[in-house]
Amino acid sequence: MRRFFLYLSRHAGLRRWMETHPSARRLTQRFVAGTTLEEVLAVCATLQSEGTFAALDHLGENVTSLSEATGSLADYLAALDAIAARRLPATVSIKVTQFGLDLSEAACLDNVRRLAARARETGSQVEIDMESSLYTDRTLGIATQVAGEFGGIRCVIQAYLRRSQADIERLNRLGVEVRLCKGAYDEGAGVAFPEKADVDRNYTVLMRQLLDHGTYPAIATHDGALIDETIRHARENGIGVDRFEFQMLYGIRRDLQRKVVAAGYRLRVYVPYGTAWYPYFMRRLAERPANVFFLVRNLLR
Ligand SMILES: Cc1cc2nc3c(=O)[nH]c(=O)nc-3n(C[C@H](O)[C@H](O)[C@H](O)COP(=O)(O)OP(=O)(O)OC[C@H]3O[C@@H](n4cnc5c(N)ncnc54)[C@H](O)[C@@H]3O)c2cc1C
Repeated sequence: MRRFFLYLSRHAGLRRWMETHPSARRLTQRFVAGTTLEEVLAVCATLQSEGTFAALDHLGENVTSLSEATGSLADYLAALDAIAARRLPATVSIKVTQFGLDLSEAACLDNVRRLAARARETGSQVEIDMESSLYTDRTLGIATQVAGEFGGIRCVIQAYLRRSQADIERLNRLGVEVRLCKGAYDEGAGVAFPEKADVDRNYTVLMRQLLDHGTYPAIATHDGALIDETIRHARENGIGVDRFEFQMLYGIRRDLQRKVVAAGYRLRVYVPYGTAWYPYFMRRLAERPANVFFLVRNLLR
């Protein structure tokens, strides 16, 4: 079932049809905060009032022209300016294929540099999502390069990849911040652990590696057992609550989000917005196919 949704997530025709469907907003509202910057800023302000940080994701990936990539940069520059103007505790989270990586690595690097420069000026930060393993090396290359030049970069590492321990070792050595997640793409057994139990086990190993030796890591998961284990490890090793943060996705496990904040831990919610929602939305369905039944029920209401 997971593979089926991930296969559908790459279907261009279905994507066009769904993203322009009149019921799109009703369908996506649980996972996508809105279509405009104004809407997502209102969500961030609410999160701020609840003591929660945000990471803004202007949805989009695998752009097909460099002008589209420049458009993505412009959208994110506007987001950084608005975050600064409203003094919101928020970062931006980008995908390198949204910044033109499929078309020109040099142009993509230049776009990420320009965003990182603005983030430094405005006192924010750029988080770089990790896409499929086709992009891992190039994403890490861009992240470490721009982190070296501007600072303020946080790069995602996926616990399902067999290579991740070595990648974290390198990022820790370079002082680059990491967001640790399980991984959301369709990967073969050669590069990724096929069994969920192995992914969870590796997540624990990587979480400890980051807490012990990393720079302000973000532990991104809705898995209560892994959150408890992170808290236990931090307490036992005298790692203060200001030395790491938890991250969760907008619309997922609100109960757990509130619990983590109430317990005194830092939480950042990843908040997607925009009209290019289809691949993101399908990955959320792939993680939990039962979501389909809830969505259909809501649509029929
Ligand atoms: C802040 C953040 C950023 C991320 N960035 C990336 C990235 O850059 N690259 C990448 O590959 N992946 C990314 N992910 C997605 C991640 O890889 C996982 O696919 C996703 O978080 C589900 O894994 P989990 O850790 O929550 O654990 P799971 O074991 O999958 O889930 C634990 C529990 O969380 C709840 N849950 C999880 N997913 C859903 C869902 N879709 N709908 C409803 N409930 C759900 C369920 O209650 C489930 O039992 C990100 C995740 C987060 C939280």
